[in-house]
Amino acid sequence: MPGLDPGIHRFREMDRRVEPGDDACKDPIMATHKLLLLPGDGIGTEVMAEVSRLIDWLNKAGIAKFETEHGLVGGAAYDADKVAITDATMALAQASDAVIFGAVGGPKWDGVPYEARPEAGLLRLRKDLALFANLRPAVCYPALAEASSLKPDVVEGLDIMIVRELTGGVYFGEPKTITDLGNGQKRAVDTQVYDTYEIERIGRVAFDLARKRRNKVTSMEKRNVMKTGVLWNEVITAVHDREYKDVQLEHQLADSGGMNLVKWPKQFDVIVTDNLFGDMLSDIAAMLTGSLGMLPSASLGEVDAKTGKRKAMYEPVHGSAPDIAGKGMANPVAMLASFGMALRYSLDMGDLADKLDAAIAAVLAKGLRTADIKSEGTNVVSTSQMGEAIVAELQALHG
Ligand code: NAD
Repeated sequence: MPGLDPGIHRFREMDRRVEPGDDACKDPIMATHKLLLLPGDGIGTEVMAEVSRLIDWLNKAGIAKFETEHGLVGGAAYDADKVAITDATMALAQASDAVIFGAVGGPKWDGVPYEARPEAGLLRLRKDLALFANLRPAVCYPALAEASSLKPDVVEGLDIMIVRELTGGVYFGEPKTITDLGNGQKRAVDTQVYDTYEIERIGRVAFDLARKRRNKVTSMEKRNVMKTGVLWNEVITAVHDREYKDVQLEHQLADSGGMNLVKWPKQFDVIVTDNLFGDMLSDIAAMLTGSLGMLPSASLGEVDAKTGKRKAMYEPVHGSAPDIAGKGMANPVAMLASFGMALRYSLDMGDLADKLDAAIAAVLAKGLRTADIKSEGTNVVSTSQMGEAIVAELQALHG
């Protein structure tokens, strides 16, 4: 296709759903995938243990070949090295095919120096790996439609993908200051800035994803009151007209888009939006599906022209949940589904990712629940029992 940068083809290749019969497990020269596991703090370590269980089984069963490194991040890294992530761990992240991240933070580290706070580890990973595209799917498993705060018919079968620009906009724009005006008043300034290339590259991620889904992109901004909204709208439209005419594109103002997300979310397929609106809209979409413990995410960087690979990090949306840490109550689904996104978007194992999704849906359909998603008549299990059940179901799906 004319006008496309080579990275676009690579993205499509990675997103390809492998056809039955060409499963990685039948490949005699199986690729080795290098993963960096960063469990972090609190329930991060508990849910990451379930990813390790899955990786061990996949390696033993000969379905995939993973080489894993482990590192400290967040409070755990501070306790060991007085930083939120060391240079050595960053080097491992740079050298990996995908970083699998748990969660960081907790009251224990509330008083540590600002630059060493747990979140600084996460921010450094995002910044140094230049992860500009944040993908947050909101999928409502049929068995959990009752758990949403919305009516079941509004959310049942919901499957949307929010693509948020992650490295630009008002969170990073300069100037970013608080000035003392000297008359008892202060002035705070944040700056919303976007350049054409930043909007083009996030737009391409959204359009490429839509082509593998239901072929529709909704772009959200505030062009009625913001210059960045005017440019966002202009650039997304131009990328569409130039490269993606086959994909349906619609524009919504971000505020009415938020309204539509709770009114009739099934109208959306892929939503693309900036850093600030994406932060809010993806949290709204998150609650459509019931629990924080169910929500995975992916953050992708540019394709490296030399290797053809993208830097990428996969993490659950939730935090370290100090209130339930160490009790074996954490829901591992968000973490396992994040690993599933790594299979799909970084490791070219779309078939296995589909099976993992199916295994999660099957376990939920059988009535197994962690405490956060329990309802009447369901069977409440621990983090490890849930992880075990999902791996067993995946094993059954593999025959
Ligand atoms: P949180 O996501 O940790 O928890 C919010 C609520 O959801 C809690 O009641 C928790 O028990 C529940 N919950 C979250 N994940 C769950 C799971 N997998 N299974 C069952 N229940 C789950 O958010 P918070 O309480 O606002 O923050 C706690 C700590 O986590 C803070 O230090 C915060 O800074 C940090 N945090 C880290 C990240 C990250 O690492 N990406 C994200 C958000 C918050």
